[in-house]
Amino acid sequence: MNMKQNEKVWTTEEIIEIYNRPLLDLVFEAASVHRKYHDPNKIQVSTLISIKTGGCSEDCAYCPQAARYFTDVETNELLSVKQVEVAAKRAKMLGSSRLCMGAAWRSVKDNADFDHVLDLVKTVHDQDLEVCCTLGMVSEQQAQKLADAGLYAYNHNLDSSEEFYKEIISTRGYEDRLKTLENVRKANMTICSGGIIGMGESVEDRCNMLLTLSQLNPQPESVPINALVAVEGTPLEEQETVEIWEMIRMVATTRIVLPHTTVRLSAGRTNMTKEGQVFCFMAGASSIFAGDKLLTTPNPDIFEDLALFEKIGMNVQQPYEKHAKPERVEGKTYENEETVKWSRPAHKIEANEKYKALAKEKRTELKNQD
Ligand code: SF4
Repeated sequence: MNMKQNEKVWTTEEIIEIYNRPLLDLVFEAASVHRKYHDPNKIQVSTLISIKTGGCSEDCAYCPQAARYFTDVETNELLSVKQVEVAAKRAKMLGSSRLCMGAAWRSVKDNADFDHVLDLVKTVHDQDLEVCCTLGMVSEQQAQKLADAGLYAYNHNLDSSEEFYKEIISTRGYEDRLKTLENVRKANMTICSGGIIGMGESVEDRCNMLLTLSQLNPQPESVPINALVAVEGTPLEEQETVEIWEMIRMVATTRIVLPHTTVRLSAGRTNMTKEGQVFCFMAGASSIFAGDKLLTTPNPDIFEDLALFEKIGMNVQQPYEKHAKPERVEGKTYENEETVKWSRPAHKIEANEKYKALAKEKRTELKNQD
């Protein structure tokens, strides 16, 4: 399961130097690294569905699913097994090798909802698709239960550097993120962990995030690179759209620093031209998320994606090409485990508080109109 390790030990300065190279030199090197470790004409497609939307207790400044902001996201309860089975079949038919299920939770709780998620994992696993979940923080035992249900990958993004993380989230700490990644690794699942650019972070923050990812041992098998989709009603609503050049730089730098990982072109693709996306593939991105929505933000139509792959001669990757299908373990009993105490950092982020207050005002206004 563990990926081959890159022997290079990076420093922030080295990564910044790579990031700032003349663009064409940077892309040339990234493309060369990509060709050394990956098939450049193959692309992995993941379908991302939201199995439980909105109403989240956290204060991630970029996220329209946080209950404290006032966005047009409707809160939904968990999807049924049937709904997920239909989504999995459709995703497979349209070329996805992986189905990723996201729930807007701070952390997984040992309750009926988690048992239901385990059933969803089994359902997708039975469709011969790689199953990925992103459910917030998980304990070691919860990670093990997911692995035993057949989970192939767990997504938990670092989002940014440790330093900048404090500027966008105050309801948990960076060490909580790393702890979850450690728990996932102990359960022998693959890790998907990356970040978002365009939140107001510096180039140093971007490079420090890559440094932290490169220091994980083993390194993540998958690194999603998202461009912020600035959603109205969130504290980051006024952030400017990330320029394609920044996206290409970030993808190329990730490819060079983490040569074995799958680099995923994730949120923000609707703001990119097709040529811009192909430039990212050239720079080492070898995966996309499919589906007309990425949890709650817009995404290109899958048929457009498939047409583009055909035009440029890219083939979609089949499930389990990189790692074997996980075995499902039935009838296992689990020892009772102490609940993990996740941190709640004692600081407040002004912008988040401001948008929380604005949302409260708007809700009261709407209530009075009824
Ligand atoms: S990113 Fe996840 S944890 Fe943060 S507010 Fe959104 S759903 Fe909650």
